[in-house]
This record gives sequence, structure tokens and C-alpha cells, in this order.
Amino acid sequence: MALKRRLDDSLILYKNRRFPASFKSESRLRYTVVIGIGGNIGDVRRRFEHLLHVLARARKVALRRSSAILKNPPFGYCEQDDFYNAVLELQTSMTPYCFLDFLLHIEKRFGRKRSFANAPRTLDLDIIFFDGRMIDTPRLQVPHPHWFKRESVIIPLSTLYM
Ligand code: AMP
Repeated sequence: MALKRRLDDSLILYKNRRFPASFKSESRLRYTVVIGIGGNIGDVRRRFEHLLHVLARARKVALRRSSAILKNPPFGYCEQDDFYNAVLELQTSMTPYCFLDFLLHIEKRFGRKRSFANAPRTLDLDIIFFDGRMIDTPRLQVPHPHWFKRESVIIPLSTLYM
């Protein structure tokens, strides 16, 4: 069953059996990572369910927790549908750059096409935190530089450990 809670004029929080949830998989993988997931093309909430299946089957990661899903308006380029966003806690032993490549590969598999900044997207995956590390290179910034300014990250994060 899905629960839907309107937070204000523009934000809606969705909860169901898998969002938020904690997944009890035992894992010896080394690092704890939080990723942001988002999209605004097609049936995004169904795609998130599919993503959980893909991650649950991937041997290089262990799925630990998922947040509730936030529906929120686009920023930057506003002539597009609202976004759905959530965050996931995973474990992995991959290095941050290998993990980034892993996420980019999954985005591609889910039909992500890159056009312009803030464009509509089927699935966007961002590294928010990587095991308490700070990384600032042209290819990767961790923690994600905008995480604390975005409702699309903060609100789902606040439901991750419920
Ligand atoms: P985007 O179009 O927002 O999905 O940006 C993807 C690109 O942003 C990737 O190819 C990375 O090189 C770069 N990037 C920098 N920091 C991060 C991060 N924390 N998580 C994901 N991508 C990042």
C-alpha cells in the first residue's frame, strides 16, 4: 500500500513497502555510501523499484536502506515535469571512481541520455556521501557540492533512518 503526504504546495512525500525500508543483507563490503536517485520521465516510482532489484542483485554492492520518495518541482530548467527523488544507503568495496563508473553504467542501462544541464531524465544517480571522505577533483566532488541546499536530498535523507 502507498501512503501520500502533501508537505506544502509543491512537495509530496510517498511511502510504500520499499521506500523507506531497511534491507538486512549481511555484507563485508568496506565502505558506506549514500546516493541520490532521481528522475522525471515516465513512471519514475516504478523505475525506482526496478533499480532496487538491480542493486540487490549486483554483487559489488549491498543495499542497506532506502528513504521515502519526494515529488518536487524542477529547478534550473523549469519547463519540465516534477521530479521524484530518494536516497539509498549502500555498502561497497569499490573505490569512489569505480563506484561512479558503476552508477554511470546503471544510468545508461536505464536509458539516461545527456543533453543539457538540468534536462529531463529517466534516472539520475549522484554520490552524496562516500564513507566520510572528501574528494574535490574535476571528475568527482564528494560530499555532493549541493546536497545541503536541495530539498530533493535533505527531505529524503531525513527519512532514511526512520
Ligand atoms: P549529472 O549530469 O548531474 O548526472 O553529472 C554527472 C557527472 O557529474 C559525472 O560524470 C561526474 O563526473 C560528475 N560528478 C561530480 N561529482 C559527482 C557526484 N558526487 N556524484 C555523481 N556525479 C558527480
